[in-house]
Amino acid sequence: MKTLLRILLGLCLLVVTVWFLVTQPIFFKTPKSDSPEVDAATLESHVRTLSEVLPKRIGKESNLEITSKWIEEQLVPYGKSYRQSYKVNDKNFHNILINFEPMVKHPSEDIIIVGAHYDTAHGYPGADDNASGVAVLLNLASRLKIKNDQAEVKDKNNYLFLSFSGEEMGLLGSNYFSKNPTIDAESINYMINMDMVGRMKVDSTLAVYGTGTSPMFKQTLKSNNDKFKLVENESGVGPSDHTSFYLIDIPVLHFFTGQHEDYHKPGDDSEKLNYEGMNLISDYIYEIINDLDDNGELAFRKTKNESEESPRFKVGLGVVPDYLYDGKGMRIDGTREDTPAFNAGLQKGDVVLKLGDSTITDMMSYMRALSVFDNGDEADITVKRGDKTIEAKVKF
Ligand SMILES: [Zn+2]
Repeated sequence: MKTLLRILLGLCLLVVTVWFLVTQPIFFKTPKSDSPEVDAATLESHVRTLSEVLPKRIGKESNLEITSKWIEEQLVPYGKSYRQSYKVNDKNFHNILINFEPMVKHPSEDIIIVGAHYDTAHGYPGADDNASGVAVLLNLASRLKIKNDQAEVKDKNNYLFLSFSGEEMGLLGSNYFSKNPTIDAESINYMINMDMVGRMKVDSTLAVYGTGTSPMFKQTLKSNNDKFKLVENESGVGPSDHTSFYLIDIPVLHFFTGQHEDYHKPGDDSEKLNYEGMNLISDYIYEIINDLDDNGELAFRKTKNESEESPRFKVGLGVVPDYLYDGKGMRIDGTREDTPAFNAGLQKGDVVLKLGDSTITDMMSYMRALSVFDNGDEADITVKRGDKTIEAKVKF
């Protein structure tokens, strides 16, 4: 009898020990206060909600209203929320703003604006443009909140999360905010814009625009990067909301995973997004924000406005250029039907090497070559397709 009891006791002890060993990591897991983890599943579910569940983010005011309310609800746990309304052609538009203040307020506080537009073009799903940006914005809000709730030493910068409407109609929301800021514009330290961050390619290319708008940016981007092939552009002016802030002398960074053939098309859906890539981008921006926290107010630099230097065009090929391609020539990322390129049989992936008399080495030389043609002109074009060199004629 005694032996049986001993065996039973031993078994119980074993069971308890095994149970403890198995569950211990759950019970004693200490959250890393310096880097709360990103949740890829949440990123994906936010993108799906924005691009599939909620009404199309265009047209009827009520549709945009529903989306803006949803974003506001997601952000409410992180701070004071308010909406900034403005009218265009008698229609109401709203920017969604969430202000959270990890630090005790003091007069010289610096505010970082983290922004992403939530409207979309033509009522298409807009998973990459720009549900991806909004999802990363929500993610960053959550991580910065957790970090500051847990940390003994709070961040020196404060944060304003800002989701714009009217981007696709010409940066309306960010433009309105920059002219009617709800906070003292002097206190804005820098602005981070995420517009189309959902389609990182296998080569891990990440474009960052605005790197010349503060002397701090290039070194910070470099020292925190061990994952991406960065394609940097100094200019503070670009086709997204950061431009509005650059124009009121605020340093800006715009993160972007590149143009694609589904841009402003029905095919911009959630299936095609790289959620792991979004994870990495969120991590990267988070590290950059942390790294810059000690630097006080960043100095602002004006950059050369590249679009002012660009040649003017009378004609176009009808292609989506791959702005991230850094080989020799201009790589086509897609062609539109009934355009000179399409009619000449050019395809996605073709690299244009020669147009007319000009050798094409990069985007700039491509644009220069294009600028000499008029409607009705014909030109020889040489492209590389895989190993083959193909010659064709384009008619503009
Ligand atoms: Zn966009």
